[in-house]
Parts: sequence; structure tokens; C-alpha cells
Amino acid sequence: MEELYVVRDRIEQLRAQINYHNYRYYVLDSPEISDAEYDELMRELARLEAQYPQFITPDSPTQRVGAQPVEAFGVVQHPVPMLSLANVFSYEELQAWHKRVSGLLRGQSFDLVCELKMDGLAVALTYEGGRLTTGATRGDGMRGEDITQNLKTVRSIPLTLSQPTPPRFEVRGEVYLSKKGFEKLNKERADAGLPLFANPRNAAAGSVRQLDPRITARRPLDIYVYGLGWAEGEMPLTHWETLDWLKTLGFKVSPHNALLGHVKEVEDYYRHWVERREGLEYETDGVVVKINPIALQGQLGNVGREPRWAVAYKFPATQGTTRLLDIGINVGRTGSLNPYAILEPVLVGGVTIKLATLHNEDDIRRKDIRVGDTVIVQRAGEVIPQVIGPIVTKRTGAERPFVMSERCPACGTSVVRPEGEVMSYCPNSACPAQVFRSLTHFVSRSAMDIEGLGEQWCLALMEKGLVKDPADVYYLTKEQLLSLERMGDKLAQNILDAIAASKERPLSRVIFALGIRHVGEEMAEILAKKFGSLERLAQASLSELMAIPTIGPKIAESVHAYFSQEANLRLIQKLERAGVKFKGQVTSKALPLTGMEFVFTGKLDAYSRNQAEALVKELGGETGSSVTRKTAYLVVGADPGSKLDRARTLNIPLLAEAEFQRIVKEAKAKG
Ligand SMILES: [Zn+2]
Repeated sequence: MEELYVVRDRIEQLRAQINYHNYRYYVLDSPEISDAEYDELMRELARLEAQYPQFITPDSPTQRVGAQPVEAFGVVQHPVPMLSLANVFSYEELQAWHKRVSGLLRGQSFDLVCELKMDGLAVALTYEGGRLTTGATRGDGMRGEDITQNLKTVRSIPLTLSQPTPPRFEVRGEVYLSKKGFEKLNKERADAGLPLFANPRNAAAGSVRQLDPRITARRPLDIYVYGLGWAEGEMPLTHWETLDWLKTLGFKVSPHNALLGHVKEVEDYYRHWVERREGLEYETDGVVVKINPIALQGQLGNVGREPRWAVAYKFPATQGTTRLLDIGINVGRTGSLNPYAILEPVLVGGVTIKLATLHNEDDIRRKDIRVGDTVIVQRAGEVIPQVIGPIVTKRTGAERPFVMSERCPACGTSVVRPEGEVMSYCPNSACPAQVFRSLTHFVSRSAMDIEGLGEQWCLALMEKGLVKDPADVYYLTKEQLLSLERMGDKLAQNILDAIAASKERPLSRVIFALGIRHVGEEMAEILAKKFGSLERLAQASLSELMAIPTIGPKIAESVHAYFSQEANLRLIQKLERAGVKFKGQVTSKALPLTGMEFVFTGKLDAYSRNQAEALVKELGGETGSSVTRKTAYLVVGADPGSKLDRARTLNIPLLAEAEFQRIVKEAKAKG
């Protein structure tokens, strides 16, 4: 056993390195080491902390993810209220605000700071002694919710600050989801048959307010900080200097902030971003204009719940009105029939819109959208435009209510609508539209990731009769690929290589790729971790599935139903014969025992061997049947066998049952 102070030094060194690389990656977007090297540092730290739990601190990088779900959020009283901003919608209104403020300041000169207004969720981060202690939502401005565990999962929020700081202070910022992250999240939700988020802001708010931080951790949340709430001790004299100071502390501050002298310059800044905001990776809904000198901010004070010293200059809305010409139906991967709007082309925020999503039958009925209606359409970033609702006063009486087709538009099978669901389905698993969607889903990046096998090739392979289900992909020959029009030798080889490489994907990817209804990426990971192999998952009883806390009855039934179908079992066998690997626990660097292999010998008191192994797997660790050099620990029970000798020869650390229990307990406490 190493000397304790050596261990502690190493742990501190690792944390400092990880924090530094985290900052390079998430805040500066300029990493210095590879992901694998980063993972290696994290693994070593996780291993040391599991071995020496007395050194675990709440601000350790291992503590970002993995906290236990909570029943409800605690309440945080904001020492200084989080105010909301007054809005202005035109240059005239902005000038009026500026004039009013100048009048109140009686000729004292001031400059202005302009910031893009992020469309996300305002949060307050309290640091004590350089460590993040509390993270809270804005709430009603006076009291917010304690979402510390969730905010810790946002990698661009520093858990510790390396520079000297005031003893206690509060940083404010906006947590947001990028447009890409939002689209990906909604796509997963659509695939899993879950309701979609209306926009990135809702998605960010929903993610931050998850009771289970492990779900938050999987959402690609980010933050821009925009100021101080309060601080003990001496602080910069201007807002601009404050932003600079926050940047040096390691916070993510928007590079687009500007220090301007005159209100006309603010208008130019605003015009600049009206034209360019579509190109940003995130949604913005305006420009925040703030008086720069902090002393003058204080003199101006607040009126009601709005500060006088700042104002939000809102961007014009990206909505338009047009006529709904017809409602079309798309057949999804799981057979869901998805209605979409066919519109008279309309220009919204510089982009012509012809199609928009209508979500589902219920949504159309609830909003009373009829074919022929004049409708309001909204576009938000690169997201599929959506129909907000009809303008009822423009009706002529010729509009037709929507009736869901009784037959699948792709194969003509009678559609079914399961009780309690908002979607109608085509029940024919051989439906060409479904097969096509399953296939494109199966090969997609977040599933088996078969690069090069795009939609056109999938379609061509289906048309030629070469692929009737996703498993057929693994039986394709080069000759068959070359028989497709416009397929060249090099491309065919690349596709074959990609197919071969995809046989080694982690179990969670394979489960996700199968396209089980309601099983998105998150759920697939949970199932992979829980069951460890596809075989075990396929054999799981309904009650076993229901017993998993994060799985609701709908998902459990869907998984169970999937593996009860002969055709699906045949598909799996076919994949297996082709050499697709199903075993291999997914590893997540988040879990406390990740990367550690436990081997057991002898009889344990408190657990059966199966229970003990299941515990280790649940916490992200692995179990082995024999002691090898990669074994992290041999757990020694009563009457140990030859594994004990082998472990001694290889110098593998031994654990008594009590020590094993302690590690499990500590690891569980962490998540
Ligand atoms: Zn069909």
C-alpha cells in the first residue's frame, strides 16, 4: 500500500490536470490532449478515489456526474434578487431608454456593454473558498431551486477556481443547449416516441431541472456567464472589467461582448447580429445593453423587478403566416405515422419554408388545425419549422378537419392506434417505409455508425432486394455493392470496412440500433449497464424490467414485446452469426468503478456471487472469472480457491468482504 500523503498528492495533481484540460476543452475549445489521454487521467483518479474514499471531495472532477436522483429540489434564497430585464423592440425605444437613463445620471458620462441575450435558463453559481457550493435556478427571482448536482454536470462550469478569489461570491449566467444538441435530443426523443421539446430553451430548462442528474449529464448543456450577483471583498469598478475578471478565473464568457460608447453603436451591433444570429451555434433572442460603471448602476437602481441600468433589445420574431395546402404522412421507423404540413411557400426570417412538422394527430386536433387554414409558422434556428396554430378569423368555411388515413400510405396495411398513445402506427413490420427507416437508423452515427452507407445507398440496396432487414448489411459482398449504379471500387471497399468495424460497437449502441420503440440512446445505455449482454436483456421478464427505477411501464412493455417477437429474435441471431459483438459492457467514465475489474473467490457472507457481481457492474465496474494482470482487486471470501495464490503472485490487491462492502457503499454514495 502506498503512503497516504503520496496518494493524496497524486490525487491532487490529477485533479489539477483534469481541471486544466477540461478548461482547454470545454471553455477554450482548444484541447491539448486526446480524449483517450483525458480518459486515462480520469480513470486513474477514479481508481485512487475508490481505493482511498477518504480523499473524495465534492469538487473532484469525478463528482460531476453520478449523483443520486432527488425527490424534489431544495429552495435557494437569492441574497440579491435575480431581476428580469425590460424589453425594447426598436431603435426609438432604445434611444428613449438611453435618454431617460442619461437624465437620471445628470450628465455623468458612461459607456455601454452589449451582450447577446442567450435563449436559455438563468442560473446563479455560488463559490466559497474558490469552490462551487451552490447552483440555483432563477425561480421567481427571489427564490430558486437548488440544482447544484445538475449544474456540476455542465463541463464548462468550473468546480474549483485556480486563481485567488474573494471568499464568497455569486456568478450569474445562462445555461443553454446548442441548436445541434437540441436537434439531436429531439431526434432521439422522436425515435423513442417521447414528446418533443418545443425549442432549445425548453430543452435546456427541462434538462437542468431533471431530478436525476445522470440524465442531465447526458445532455450537451453549456453556459455563458454574464455577471456577478454579489461578492464579498473588492470587485472591479466596471461591468466590462468584471467580465474580463470572470474570464481569467476560468469562466466561459461570450467572445461577442462589446464595449461601446454611443447608443448609435449599439444599434449597429444589434443590426450586425440580426443578420448573423442564424449562423451562431445557439439561439439568441436579443441584445442586452448594460451601463458599464458599477457605481452608476447602483445610482440608477431598480424599478419594481427590473433594473434601470440594463435593457433587452429584442430581435424580431421568426414567425410568419401562410396557407396550409395539405397534410402529408411520413412513416417512421417504428411504424408511427407522422403528419407534416405542406405549406404555400413563405419567407420567414430570410428562409423559404414549404414544409413544417405537425407532431401528431392529437396535436393537430388540440390546435384545431384544418387543411386550407391560414396558419402561423415558426422557425427557430436549423430546427424543422413548426405550425403554431391557425388564424381562425381568416377561415372561409372551406377548411377541412384532418382525418388520419386508415391505411399506411407506404404499404396499405390498416393502421392501429394503441390505447393511450398519441400516435397511429402501421403494424406491418415488413412495411418498406419502416424497413428503410430502421435501416437508416441502424447504420446512423449514434447507432452502428456505418460511415458511407447513406440514405441513397440504403434505398438502392433495398430496391435491388439485397437488403431486407438491417442484418443483411453484414452479408453484403463487394460484387453486390458494385452492382449498384454509380458505386466505385474504392467506395465499396470503404463501406465494407465500415461495416466490419461496426461489429465492435458497445452493447448500448447495438441495443439502440435495434430501434426498439421508446428506447433512445439514454435508455439503451441504462439497459446495457443493467443487463450486460443482449442475451440477458432478451430473457428479462417484464417484472425484472419494471424493477429498474428509471424505466417506466411503457418502456418495459415495449422492450419485453420486442424480444417476444419471433422475427426480432431471428434478426438478432442473424446479427450474431455475422459476428456482431453483443457482449462488452459499455463504459462510462462517469461511474465510480469504471475501468476496474473485480474478481471473487470464496464465499461471501452478505451477498451471493451473482449479487456481488451485479453490484460491481451496476457501478460501472467489470467482473472476471480469473485473476489476470488487469484485475483491480480480488475479493476474498471464506474458503478461497487458487485465485488467491495467483493474485499474490501477480501482486493484485486483495479485499476482505468488509472492505469490498465499504468500496461499494462509497461508490454508491457517489452514484
Ligand atoms: Zn406500412
